[in-house]
Amino acid sequence: MKFEVTILGSASATPVYNRNPTAQLLNCNERHYLIDCGEGTQQQLIKYGFKASKIDYIFISHLHGDHFFGVVGLLSSLHLNGRTKPLQLFGPAALKEIIDLQFLHSDTHLRYEIDFHPIDASKSELIFKNNDVSVETIVLNHRIPCTGFKFTEKKRLRKLVVEKLEQDAVPITYYPMLKRSLNIDLPDGRHIEYLDYTTDSAVPKVYCYCSDTMYDESYFDQIRNADTLYHEATFLHEMLDRANETHHTTAQQAAEIATKVGAKKLLIGHFSSRYKTLEALLDEAKCGFENTQLALEGKTFEI
Ligand SMILES: [Zn+2]
Ligand SMILES: [Zn+2]
Repeated sequence: MKFEVTILGSASATPVYNRNPTAQLLNCNERHYLIDCGEGTQQQLIKYGFKASKIDYIFISHLHGDHFFGVVGLLSSLHLNGRTKPLQLFGPAALKEIIDLQFLHSDTHLRYEIDFHPIDASKSELIFKNNDVSVETIVLNHRIPCTGFKFTEKKRLRKLVVEKLEQDAVPITYYPMLKRSLNIDLPDGRHIEYLDYTTDSAVPKVYCYCSDTMYDESYFDQIRNADTLYHEATFLHEMLDRANETHHTTAQQAAEIATKVGAKKLLIGHFSSRYKTLEALLDEAKCGFENTQLALEGKTFEI
């Protein structure tokens, strides 16, 4: 099953040096989940060959413009392109007001429904699940209420050992029960243990998205052992005072967090416009956590 994330924006605050404000597209089993939607996200989707019409779920972390200024434009384009399928939108309650006001004054009546789910940023909760993935919020520490998102793949059914099943002439009609870890008593009197005819499926993978936040151990438990941790790293550590003041994280801190929570891979992003090139940020993070990569526009990472 595909479980990967493509970076559409890596900049904080303003678009600069060909870096776009934050947006990521998560592909889980060919379903598309948009995480944040900074200005220019539509163009980024086109640039990297994705169809906006395939997005059915949008998750917005907070109401700083670099994370949501692209939402109204995207929703409007979907309408103009004839979408009728409902779209699920998760974000701060006030996002609904903002969207409604914009469409009210432009006399726009969407031809599809927005199923809006307000997020309570004061506590972590399960906000979504389907057959592929579940999504929990991560309470972050930012200047305004802000949540990250933890995407956990759904555990797959057990795998059949077909050769053995055929050899012992177990009827195919019983295969679904075995996959669901059920033992069977066959009409001919034989007892079939599922453990003898199936193997465990892969351990579900976890993707944690943490932007924007300052270093705060209160959310560490929730992101523990993530297969891939995306963490903002707005500044170099020499700017720690500025990071604390603006409730952001330094590259060194992002690496420290990845180490402390036992992440397997770290992606850093949300880079300040003060950095024309990003090598120093990557080097600093790699010093503390070797398996770090820059979450750059157009790059796709397997979770
Ligand atoms: Zn931001
Ligand atoms: Zn912010």
